[in-house]
Amino acid sequence: MIKEINELNLEGFKKIPNNEKAIFLPQCLRSRECKAKIGDRGIECLNCGKCSICEFKKQAEIKGYNVFISPGGSLVKKIIKKNNFKGVLGVACIPELEQALDLIKKTNIIAISVPLSKDGCVDTDVDWKKVKELCGL
Ligand code: SF4
Repeated sequence: MIKEINELNLEGFKKIPNNEKAIFLPQCLRSRECKAKIGDRGIECLNCGKCSICEFKKQAEIKGYNVFISPGGSLVKKIIKKNNFKGVLGVACIPELEQALDLIKKTNIIAISVPLSKDGCVDTDVDWKKVKELCGL
């Protein structure tokens, strides 16, 4: 299902200006030693370099994307609503992505997603090459 939605939505996602798009990364991708605290925009990365989020976030922000590290689905909903984003790329485990895609399909937001390649609550991983490819990085 995720693959099909990506194929269907990718061209539309690419056409939206990057500053009108959000990328949501799950907090479980962080290092176990992460010292970042939670704020209104989710987990506020300190760019300590202990996990791959740091490098990705910098690259995506240079291209104009809004990048968030999400502690959970309810904050994602709030952030999307507040900022009126037109496109969203989500990284999460498959059950969370299914829930999110179900909610998003009732809106005009164009969403694509990448499931975690290793899930769980800590030490998760994602195919960063795939994430970068989808965002044109
Ligand atoms: S780079 Fe950011 S998210 Fe990763 S461990 Fe450091 S502060 Fe946490």
